[in-house]
Amino acid sequence: MRLSALPFSLVLTLISGQSLASDLATKAQQLAQQKLIIDTHIDVPYRLHEDWEDVTQATKRGEFDYPRAKAGGLNAPFMSIYIPSSYEKNGGGYQFANQLIDGMEALVARAPDKFAMAYHSNDLAEQFTQGKISLALGMENGTPIEGKLENLQHFYDRGIRYITLTHSESNHIADSSYDLRRQWKGLSPFGKKLVTAMNNTGVMIDISHVSDAAFYQVVELSKAPVIASHSSLRAFVPGFERNMDDKMIKALAKNGGVIQINFGSAFIVQAANQWGLQRDAAFKASGQTDKDAFTAEYKKQQPYPFASLEKVLDHIDYVVKLVGIDYVGIGSDFDGVGDSLPEQLKDVSMYPNLIKGLLERGYSEQDIEKVLSGNLLRVWRAVEDYAAKH
Ligand SMILES: [Zn+2]
Repeated sequence: MRLSALPFSLVLTLISGQSLASDLATKAQQLAQQKLIIDTHIDVPYRLHEDWEDVTQATKRGEFDYPRAKAGGLNAPFMSIYIPSSYEKNGGGYQFANQLIDGMEALVARAPDKFAMAYHSNDLAEQFTQGKISLALGMENGTPIEGKLENLQHFYDRGIRYITLTHSESNHIADSSYDLRRQWKGLSPFGKKLVTAMNNTGVMIDISHVSDAAFYQVVELSKAPVIASHSSLRAFVPGFERNMDDKMIKALAKNGGVIQINFGSAFIVQAANQWGLQRDAAFKASGQTDKDAFTAEYKKQQPYPFASLEKVLDHIDYVVKLVGIDYVGIGSDFDGVGDSLPEQLKDVSMYPNLIKGLLERGYSEQDIEKVLSGNLLRVWRAVEDYAAKH
């Protein structure tokens, strides 16, 4: 007798726990292909700048390429136009940002059947039906604005749809969470003007990387919802200001914004975060100059304490319990956090594992869709609508 000839409830009692799990895996694969998946932080542009590969084909290195993105059901990566903090002092940020954007346009031009630039929230669904992966652009570090509001318009015209106000050091816009100098005590006077200009232009404000004071000033000033494009929770990594604490998440939810969870182990578990700090201290003490070589040796003595997929799911659960299902999404930081990604979340082919984990935790399809794209789309549309009226 075929199982399909039996009533569904009887089938459920007949099949083992193992096959239930494989049913969920199948369901997760289907959902990954059916639902829109937006990941708000993937560092492909800078990765290719440093070590070019053709990501329209399978690549040996890195965490993103077309075949893996397709396998994982990724529809819309926000490609990070990442500008290192050194450009603030040394200049050249405007130039470099334009070159990284050129690189993404060239990628689309080489494979127009696979990729398309996304300039509007509606482009995503349309390009999805055409079977193309939408490349949206986020700028990580406002340094290329170079104190000129006309540069904001320039980068908007080139496709930038969010700007992370700072990176690892304070800049002319805001203080950074990693930088103990708090020269502006939050936003600079120009940074305050920029927040208003971003609202009026239709560029999402990204508060990942800023200091707490800057965050509160942004949510106070912004007339539209804001995002944290790739941050996780301080509740699991106490004292790590790069993540958000409960009070900030409540303020973000009140603003209608969304936190997009970073998968990097140092953002997810305390042990991995501490490992990084201890490695940094040991590197400094060693007097060596090649940090990658030092790290490779250090790892042999001190194995890296990777986070697990379950811990990433704990971060999502925590936000949901704190403020509800409408304020959390994903911002993996693929190609940006080195060899620190959890097992089962190693690259863009693995979103189905995350979806399976959400199914196992009892999330409905509707709720899963919110996490995968719905919440971020709501914010993007609100930002577009506000700009259209101003
Ligand atoms: Zn970052």
